[in-house]
Amino acid sequence: MPEGKSQNTKGQPGITQAALFGLCPRCGAKGLWAGLGALAERCASCGLEFERHEPRGRGMYLVVLPITILLVLAALKLDDIVQLPIWALIGLWGTLVPAVVTVALRYAKATVLMARLEKEGLL
Ligand SMILES: [Zn+2]
Repeated sequence: MPEGKSQNTKGQPGITQAALFGLCPRCGAKGLWAGLGALAERCASCGLEFERHEPRGRGMYLVVLPITILLVLAALKLDDIVQLPIWALIGLWGTLVPAVVTVALRYAKATVLMARLEKEGLL
C-alpha cells in the first residue's frame, strides 16, 4: 500500500476533513462532532455509528500532554522574545490553548475512529 492517502478512499473525506469540518468518514455529511472534542452518536445521514468507536480513557492523555508541554514552552519562549501586556497574554493563550487542544483531540479521535471503522470494514 502506498504511503499517505490510499486509493480506495477516493470520494470519501480524509482524516483532515473529518477532524476539522466534522464530515462523516463514510458519506461525507456534516455532523461528526457533538461537542468540542466529543463524537456524535451516529451519522444523521447514513447511520454510521461514531460513539461506539470513540477512543476513551488515558490514551487521549498521550495527545494532550505533549501538546500542553509544547504550549508551555512556546509561552516561555514568546515571553523571552516580547514582553506582552498581561491582557494580551490572557487573550492570546486563552484562545490559542483551547483551539490547539481541540484540533489535536479531533485529529487523534478522527484517526482512531477511521482506523477502527476500516478494521471493521465499515468504510
Ligand atoms: Zn454518514
